[in-house]
Amino acid sequence: MAIGRSWMPKTHKSFKIVKSSKLRFRFKIFALTGLILAFLVIAAYFSYDPASNFYGNVFKSIITKDKVIALTFDDGPNGETTLKVLDILKQEDVKATFFVVGDNVKFYPAIAKKIATDGNEIENHSTHHAHSLQFETEYAIYKDLTETNQIIYAHTGQMPRFYRPPFGFRSPWAFGAARAAKLITVTWNDLTQDYSAKSDSVIVSYIEKFARPGGVIVLHDGSGAKHGVDHPNMLKALPQIIENLKAKGYKFVTVSELYDRSYAK
Ligand SMILES: [Zn+2]
Repeated sequence: MAIGRSWMPKTHKSFKIVKSSKLRFRFKIFALTGLILAFLVIAAYFSYDPASNFYGNVFKSIITKDKVIALTFDDGPNGETTLKVLDILKQEDVKATFFVVGDNVKFYPAIAKKIATDGNEIENHSTHHAHSLQFETEYAIYKDLTETNQIIYAHTGQMPRFYRPPFGFRSPWAFGAARAAKLITVTWNDLTQDYSAKSDSVIVSYIEKFARPGGVIVLHDGSGAKHGVDHPNMLKALPQIIENLKAKGYKFVTVSELYDRSYAK
């Protein structure tokens, strides 16, 4: 009986030790997974937040009392949609900045040329609009950006000064690649999400809400590296956007004009 009593508690105790060490191990794995996830979320936030300078300086707007604002279009040229945008800009006597995709310039060279000859500014939005670009090496990104510069220059005679990363997504080393390609990384302060808006009035009201002096508005005349994508809501909204901002006293400038104002003496 004495042997049994001394034996029983020992087993119970060792069972408890094994159980608590398993719990500690599980807790450590759980904590480590949580830390890794938190790190990834924070890293992604700094990569996507258009206002974040954490990995490098981005140009997104200027601080000014002057009612100047830059209208920008991403992902073109894109066939009829870009041509309709150009018609509206001409009717409204407004110049805009187009962040074009190299592959799209090669597909629609005449439209790319027209963007430039109409007096608009053409800037770099990468060669293929690939989400994965920012995960590539600094040298690979540099090669992509210089290739896009050359495509744009060959078809329009304009050499880009600015680079807007696809989806606004910036890895820490992408800034070095852009600098090596002599490009200033630019984002925005007013992303209208026109590509997913259910109606033109949603886009118009969104711009009403966020437009401010020195701001940069983003609209889309294309969709990545796809061709022939329609943007009926954006096309319907565009004249209203321009007229509303004009009525409030805004003057439309290109991204270069806005950037140069911030460094003007
Ligand atoms: Zn884009």
